[in-house]
Amino acid sequence: MKRSITTRMLVVSGVLVLTSVAVFALLVHASVEQRSSARLAFRSQEAIASGNKLEKLVIDLETGVRGFVASGGRNTFLQPWTQARRQYPTEAATLARLVRDHPDQMRLAADIKSSIDDYVNLYSLPMIALARERPDVAKSVIVNGTGKDRVAGIRSQFTRLFGAERSLVTARETRAESRSRTAITLGITGLAFAIVAVILLGLYLARSIVRPVRRVAAGAERVAGGDLSARVPDARADELGDLGRAFNTMAASLEESRDEIDRRTQELERSNRELAQYAAVTSHDLKEPLQTVSLFAQLFERRYKGRLDPQADQYIDSIISGTEHMRTLIRDLLEYSRVGRGEVRRETVDGELLFQKVLDNLDASISERCAEVTRDSLPAVEGDPNQLGQLLQNLVSNGLKFNAEGAPRVHVSATSEKGFVLFSVADNGIGIDEEHAHKIFEPFARVGERYEGTGIGLAICHKIVERHGGRIWVESRPGSGSTFMFTVPAASGRRSAPPAAPEKAPTPA
Ligand code: ADP
Repeated sequence: MKRSITTRMLVVSGVLVLTSVAVFALLVHASVEQRSSARLAFRSQEAIASGNKLEKLVIDLETGVRGFVASGGRNTFLQPWTQARRQYPTEAATLARLVRDHPDQMRLAADIKSSIDDYVNLYSLPMIALARERPDVAKSVIVNGTGKDRVAGIRSQFTRLFGAERSLVTARETRAESRSRTAITLGITGLAFAIVAVILLGLYLARSIVRPVRRVAAGAERVAGGDLSARVPDARADELGDLGRAFNTMAASLEESRDEIDRRTQELERSNRELAQYAAVTSHDLKEPLQTVSLFAQLFERRYKGRLDPQADQYIDSIISGTEHMRTLIRDLLEYSRVGRGEVRRETVDGELLFQKVLDNLDASISERCAEVTRDSLPAVEGDPNQLGQLLQNLVSNGLKFNAEGAPRVHVSATSEKGFVLFSVADNGIGIDEEHAHKIFEPFARVGERYEGTGIGLAICHKIVERHGGRIWVESRPGSGSTFMFTVPAASGRRSAPPAAPEKAPTPA
């Protein structure tokens, strides 16, 4: 049978309960016995007292008869006899009741009663009658008569009754005392047993339950701390064994999953690396032939533009702008793959200096479009200064570019929360509809052909933010401008997780 903790606890509790009940029952029994022995001893004392009274009545009977006879039949001397004769049956009955639980004593009491009856009926009554009729004869009879012997006989019966009753008192008192000693001994033994049992139970609990549970808790702590190799003893055939086995199965399956995730991550990293490398190599290799095509297109333009028909001029323009576009595309692609490679530098970057650099780089474009680029105070952040600069520059320049009418206005602000800085780049441009807002962070994603570009800028932003452990999203409505938001680590302070993007907004990173 499986030895479960529940069964063991039930058995131990059962033994404890049974022992307590047994000790309690013995205690009750001993104290009841002690009480009844004490009551019997008390009854014996009452029996002796009642015997004494009865003996006194016998003496009164004898005294009364003698006085009556000696006085020559004067009634006043008969008074003690008359009273004693009236009282002794009641007293004899009391005595018989008090000695009823001891057969020998009961018999003796009955003998005493019948001896008194005999004395009264067979001796004293005839003697009184004789004293009335023939006082002198009565006097001589009483001197030699059997009255004295009869009374002496009754009194010796009393002596025997008292002796036996006294030894009963002693025996009963001794028994009462021994019962009380037994009760005390049993009480102390029971208490000692209960204390020892509780201590043993405590030790058992500590050794067999608390210790293994602590081991499992320590194992759980190790697992929580990332050490998935933690295992606990699981050989027991009880609930703690089940717990240990369940824990070990869980840890083993977690370890397996982690190994699988590690393996997949490594595979993914390798394939990403290969892809980036491939993109870089391809883009780099494309540069050469493009350069040749571009060179010959320019030569062709220089030599033949305006000399052939207008259609040919248009073709030449298309070739040149196509090669230009391809050059930017290759440049952007190279930039995109460069951003995704290597470790991210972790430096403290002054937010306001970063903004100033962006302004300097975009100076020409700002003046050309009569744009206004403003900022609130910007905190320091932690990361790669070049990449963060590029991130902010891409967003500000998009804010300048995607503007249909009037002077573009771009405002940069930032708030710090939970170790991250949340940047907003808000513009008064054309805005983006909800359908496209989800896609624009993917490479080559563009909305419309009206504005020049390759669709790589926001993909680069996405990658930079992702590699800094932050998030990027946009809030916008067509015609009402756009606000691009992203989070990057603050320069100092503890981080838990980057602040979440709002529910409805796209959260590509
Ligand atoms: P590019 O600027 O080369 O087109 P981006 O990746 O920077 O590529 O942007 C992708 C697309 O997102 C753009 O084509 C444009 O439609 C949209 N977009 C980006 N920034 C803004 C903005 N500030 N306002 C409106 N649309 C924008």
